[in-house]
Amino acid sequence: MIIGLYGRIGSGKTTLCNYLRTKGFFVIDGDKISREILMPGKVGFKEVVASFGAEYLNSDGTLNRKKLGDYVFSHKEALHRLNEITHPLICEEVQALIQKNPTRHIVIEGAVLYATKIIDFCDKTVVVTSDATLSRIMKRDFLTEGEAKKRINAQELYDKADIVIENSGTLSEFYEKIDQMLQSIL
Ligand code: ATP
Repeated sequence: MIIGLYGRIGSGKTTLCNYLRTKGFFVIDGDKISREILMPGKVGFKEVVASFGAEYLNSDGTLNRKKLGDYVFSHKEALHRLNEITHPLICEEVQALIQKNPTRHIVIEGAVLYATKIIDFCDKTVVVTSDATLSRIMKRDFLTEGEAKKRINAQELYDKADIVIENSGTLSEFYEKIDQMLQSIL
């Protein structure tokens, strides 16, 4: 079983993955892969620097993700350009990890599930929704309300999921809903 998991920023995707890991799932973290392909020396890194310029580098030669993030989230064309570089690389990496784990249940977390066509590898898609998103990410990422809203608004709206899990309540309520979801699909 391969589950594709998505949801708005801060909705609870990582929390859900950590819980599924305790149930034996192999977790593919799309966000982690997105970061890894932009590490110095990687193809993605080289392409981003060539496209956006050295002003997006930190003094230690790593990518200044905050600066790049601020820029692309306020410039649609730049976001598109960044995605064109990163999405195919993310997709390739996910495919390789699936092939390495053919016998395990897998969950793939990634905000870019549809855009990268990773969705085609999934048996079921799950979306996590939450009313508490804004306050949670402001607290976690030290963002102002305006900055947090910008990041949330830049995300696609997802309405094609097989299963919707609501995560506005407590953690134990969330885990209970995940257990019910597993019972219905496994
Ligand atoms: P991102 O899209 O940024 O990766 P995410 O969807 O993975 O975020 P999480 O990191 O799982 O979201 O959750 C965001 C924050 O909210 C975390 O600090 C997490 O511990 C907290 N959180 C998640 N669910 C709950 C809940 N039901 N009750 C309280 N806090 C929660």
